[in-house]
Amino acid sequence: MSDETREARIPPPGNCVAPRSLVLNLTLQCPLRCAHCCYRSDMGQHGCLDLADACRAIDDAARLQNLSQVHFVGGDPFLVPDLMRKALLHARGHGMHGAATTSAYWARTPERARAILAPLVDAGLVELVVSYDDAHAAFVPLRSVENAVAAARAYSLRLYVAVTVDAQARIDAASLRERLRIAPDDPREKVYEVVVNGTGRAADGEEAVAAEAVRRNDARTYRGACHSALQNIQITHTGKILPCCGVLPHNDRMAIGDLARGDRVDAAVAAAYADPLWTWIALEGPVQVLVQATADGPLPLAETDFDGICSACERLFTSPPLLADVNAALERKRAGLVTHVGVLQSLGLWRAPSASTEAEQAPACDASPPPTAHAMAG
Ligand code: SF4
Ligand code: SF4
Repeated sequence: MSDETREARIPPPGNCVAPRSLVLNLTLQCPLRCAHCCYRSDMGQHGCLDLADACRAIDDAARLQNLSQVHFVGGDPFLVPDLMRKALLHARGHGMHGAATTSAYWARTPERARAILAPLVDAGLVELVVSYDDAHAAFVPLRSVENAVAAARAYSLRLYVAVTVDAQARIDAASLRERLRIAPDDPREKVYEVVVNGTGRAADGEEAVAAEAVRRNDARTYRGACHSALQNIQITHTGKILPCCGVLPHNDRMAIGDLARGDRVDAAVAAAYADPLWTWIALEGPVQVLVQATADGPLPLAETDFDGICSACERLFTSPPLLADVNAALERKRAGLVTHVGVLQSLGLWRAPSASTEAEQAPACDASPPPTAHAMAG
């Protein structure tokens, strides 16, 4: 394993469409079982990305010029801390910094929180995202979040707290800011809200269907451009390459490549930038894609048919007839998208990667078998 640290990569400007983050979804296992979980995660899920594939994806992604971050998600990536640590070291060898998203279930005491974060910080973790809301609170005491936040501060990590809300939410961003003592304008610590998308477990059962109907009329529901498509490149726990980090169950129709097939991440991303469907989703969002593609058909869709953009993608990519409608509409849309991209390119706000054949010299990868996914559970 290389512990060499290269000069840090420079991320693209925030308003630019460019590959910026490699998201490694290490496992769908999670010790929680949140009511809104898009992956229906729990400890009954199976499979884990192995270290060799994680390192290979990192090596490929390092060919993408502006990509500067590797972000570990799940399930909960803190179930496989040694895998995360080794992959962080490998990414640091390419000048990438590390981030991880977790429920902080592991931070039961201040000492334990610091002990678990310390080796990850040593390996290159600079950012922690803690998810907390009513659904998480059914499993994790707020005290654990406070312990994780205190440890993150002790190690000078950038900190985000993601709060998933709907109309009935008791825990919201304001209440967490107050409890965690995070100022709204703090440059290194942010608490932000996202509205539940009716995908995964959030779509299961009659109550979920009723809640989705309410969210369709919630003023906070987002139906605009997708700022994850073509920017956050995800590797699933089975090695599929996805062009975004959406909150919906993994779907092979969205895959742009597969590590198991020998596909290269950078080549898959370059091809996705040349695919007008992903351009349309990135620039206008999947709700607009579906509304425009069905406008002249027998069953036109309206914006209020969707409670979020990932819900719209789930509808699109699970429906071959809708995909056919969208592909037909793309023939009419293509010229406008080319013009839109051209304008953004001229402003430096669209940076499509080219399919490079030159490999950056890869740091060695210690691909010894990772520990089992239960190593840190509980
Ligand atoms: S939402 Fe996050 S913490 Fe909750 S079950 Fe899913 S992966 Fe686990
Ligand atoms: S809206 Fe679609 S493309 Fe964007 S993150 Fe969600 S699933 Fe991915």
